[in-house]
Amino acid sequence: MTFSAPSLVPLPESMSEIRTAAEDLLFRADAARVFPTPVDKILSTTGISDIGDIEEIRWRYLKSLPPAEAGIFEKAWKKVQGFADLQNGSIYSAPAEHTPLWNWLRLHELGHHVLWWHRVRNVDGASLPLTAGLRHLFDKEADAFASQIVFQGSHFDALAGALPFGFGSILRLAEIYGAPQDAAARRLVEDCRNPAALVTYVQVLPSVGSDAILELDGDHSGSPSFGFRCAEVQLPTQLPTVHPWQAALQPAGVRSGKVVLNVAAGTPQEFVWETWWNGSQLFVLLRGLSPALRLVDGVYAIVA
Ligand SMILES: [Zn+2]
Repeated sequence: MTFSAPSLVPLPESMSEIRTAAEDLLFRADAARVFPTPVDKILSTTGISDIGDIEEIRWRYLKSLPPAEAGIFEKAWKKVQGFADLQNGSIYSAPAEHTPLWNWLRLHELGHHVLWWHRVRNVDGASLPLTAGLRHLFDKEADAFASQIVFQGSHFDALAGALPFGFGSILRLAEIYGAPQDAAARRLVEDCRNPAALVTYVQVLPSVGSDAILELDGDHSGSPSFGFRCAEVQLPTQLPTVHPWQAALQPAGVRSGKVVLNVAAGTPQEFVWETWWNGSQLFVLLRGLSPALRLVDGVYAIVA
């Protein structure tokens, strides 16, 4: 079995500005401490219009393209989850099956409007095309904005802190805040005071079942102390069917156990793990157990 360390997604450096912008908007919309956050009210307070139906825009654009490019556009269009038109003050988000996901997408697009520095302009006032790196950063910031609006900062911290750490609480929190379940899981580990992380495995073989192989996704979310102590954690890059984390697939449900993983060269750390399969991804929640104290040369030293 091969192991690798997925990269820890850090919170944006602009987090305090994002928090202030979200709190200000919640206050203006009279939505502070209202749960789930009334997203329609938030949108109407900003004056940003939500383009509900963009079929006409799509058709107009499609007709203007040479036939050779139309197919490429159609394929790309299917992957578009939403966009923010910063010039015309509008957003669009593809209707999602679940309201929490749709609301999250709308708030993400709204974030591109509210976070004023996303309007990158040339000296003549014309908007500039963004580099891939900057687009990625802005998307992370827009997600952080959506998270602040949905979970309302300290309210989530207090409530989540009073619940046991695990998927049972994550599913409850997602329901209370009207949030996508993976967003609630990310928020829980990011706010955790102990070393904790959320990693994801995606299916690489077509059928889920006896021969399903799951592959480690590149990014993971973690608490500040996880980033400090365990950022180099070595995780299996693929999970064979016999791996205990795969047991969450059949029958679907939460599984748990303990595992020792290397967090730096030759440094083992014991973690409590929980896995949960959402139908397309396997989420693995890791929580570091308190480091053991061992008597070394007459003084207590922290081991791992
Ligand atoms: Zn975006």
